[in-house]
Amino acid sequence: MPFVFTRLGLMMRRDFLTFIARPCLLCDQKQNHASGICGPCQNDLPWLARACPRCGIPWRHHTGAYNCFHNPPIFNHCQTAFAYDFPIKQLILEFKESGNLAAGRALATCLALRLGLASPQHPLPDLLIPVPSSWQKQRQRGYNPAALIAKDLARALNRPWTSGLIKAHPTQQDRKHQSRQQRLNDVTNPFYLNRTRAPCHIAIIDDVVTSMATANQVAAKLKAAGYHRISLWALARSLPPNTPNRSNSIDD
Ligand SMILES: [Zn+2]
Ligand SMILES: [Zn+2]
Repeated sequence: MPFVFTRLGLMMRRDFLTFIARPCLLCDQKQNHASGICGPCQNDLPWLARACPRCGIPWRHHTGAYNCFHNPPIFNHCQTAFAYDFPIKQLILEFKESGNLAAGRALATCLALRLGLASPQHPLPDLLIPVPSSWQKQRQRGYNPAALIAKDLARALNRPWTSGLIKAHPTQQDRKHQSRQQRLNDVTNPFYLNRTRAPCHIAIIDDVVTSMATANQVAAKLKAAGYHRISLWALARSLPPNTPNRSNSIDD
């Protein structure tokens, strides 16, 4: 992807220099990639492609309850880099639960490279906003994973970001242990808009897209405030269970 590197090259040089001296995050071999993951390991990652532009589900899984045509999400566009599968799942869990910030940065760099291919139909947004973390989780971890991803993407793509536009109510429950159906049935909106600004194209940033319930709740608040063009960007997309979900080619 030479022209992507041209476009992102200057912005990513600092990340590149940070990672180039480190062994591959996955195989421990010498590597020289901006993501910190060597070429062969990158080729083995479960990249997602040929997906529905609205919900991010690959077309071959876009059936039944996973067909968004019958129940479209509130946001307008969704793009993720990977299937939430080995080893992405393990890297994201390390990033979120064990403080392995290098894993998060590596995956954010991969996502930035993918997003650098933005087409005229899907131009880059004017503002990036992370899905807010619950106060409890923020205290526990000391950071909001989505905010770190947003910060890395913003720097790589030369776009502004803010965590001040939308916030989580202090009473927000931890939704991690809820089932997909429980999330879909939960109609309470745990988020509130902290301030407003002129309508523009916003990208909501998250680590993993599962039921879309959280992103829909954030998007609902934004749309009610007059933001009409909303994208959802995430490191990974969970796919329907019990289906072969690996795709090692970005052209698949
Ligand atoms: Zn490797
Ligand atoms: Zn769809």
